[in-house]
Amino acid sequence: MATPKIILTGDRPTGRLHIGHYVGSLRNRVALQNEGGYEKMFVFIADAQALTDNIDNPEKVRQNVIEVALDYLACGLDPERVTLFIQSQIPELCELSFYFMDLVSVSRLQRNPTVKTEIQMRGFQSSIPVGFFTYPISQAADIAAFRATTVPAGEDQKPMIEQATEIVRRFNNIYGETLVEPEILLPSNAACLRLPGTDGKAKMSKSLGNCIYLSDDADTVQKSVMSMYTDPTHIHVSDPGHLEGNTVFTYLDAFCRPEHFERYLPDYPNLDELKAHYQRGGLGDMKVKRFLANIMQELLEPIRQRRQEFAQDIPAVYDMLQKGCADARAVAAATLDDVRRAMKINYFDDAALIEEQAKRFAAQK
Ligand code: ATP
Ligand code: MG
Repeated sequence: MATPKIILTGDRPTGRLHIGHYVGSLRNRVALQNEGGYEKMFVFIADAQALTDNIDNPEKVRQNVIEVALDYLACGLDPERVTLFIQSQIPELCELSFYFMDLVSVSRLQRNPTVKTEIQMRGFQSSIPVGFFTYPISQAADIAAFRATTVPAGEDQKPMIEQATEIVRRFNNIYGETLVEPEILLPSNAACLRLPGTDGKAKMSKSLGNCIYLSDDADTVQKSVMSMYTDPTHIHVSDPGHLEGNTVFTYLDAFCRPEHFERYLPDYPNLDELKAHYQRGGLGDMKVKRFLANIMQELLEPIRQRRQEFAQDIPAVYDMLQKGCADARAVAAATLDDVRRAMKINYFDDAALIEEQAKRFAAQK
């Protein structure tokens, strides 16, 4: 029997979600949900993971749990079809992490390139919190506890999923086939793998403050787009422009569809022609930015509207999350039963064990 397709993915409640999340993972999730070709789908808010580098700022994490939940609902995740839950409410995840700790070496963790970059970004070099250092293990537990086969995520998560796969493989080798090896589902569009920030530096990231948030108002979005990093050598309209590292064009690659030209820039038939004109010279940044701003507003307006509607009834959002946590916990608990059995730490539900021990000691009499 083929392994049933189970989708799991999540976000850290360290801020509201931004358009990097949208193209990197959220858009894929909503499409997967709507296609329906899966057994179960879980989307979770990784508050325990967020605390690993925000341990002195619990209020930030607490506030952002509801912000992320609203972003999910606004983007079209539907609690009828997807289990939305909060990581810390599933203690089985801690238990599985604890067992997984023994399946990974310190040097293997040190080699994880995402952790390396993030340690540097956060200035943790001289003093790395153990919980932060080991978060790939806890992430492996999140995935394995739900028997996820498919993890829609951005490119920065690739080393994490590789590490999770190694851990699951090692577990199954030692204890017998129990857990499922996951696969990452990356966006098919190269520009979406790691959307850069509006400053043109590193990836757009809540921790770097270079974001366009899904919940930003129309004015803020307009200002962010109009002040975006482009090509510093493109000073006069007539100068030839460069596309490489030009954030505005990267965003067009990520968001622009053919019908946007008909609606907002009918002088050009498609993106290739727009790019060619820019490279030749004679096309100003402002015109391209205005085009991008129109596209962003068209995408974000309905998301913003729906977010406001869901925000009218916050207690209902918490109720939905609480129900999601209960459902998720039942699934994780069932996996942990299998894990304990495989690891031979199921002492009280194994009649054969008790009988066998009784016989062994009786024979010693
Ligand atoms: P933090 O700075 O707190 O780590 P973040 O902005 O990196 O926050 P995460 O919660 O770590 O966001 O990431 C959630 C998901 O969104 C992951 O699948 C990640 O790959 C994806 N993602 C985040 N930023 C981007 C981006 N700029 N481009 C593509 N995908 C992204
Ligand atoms: Mg991150």
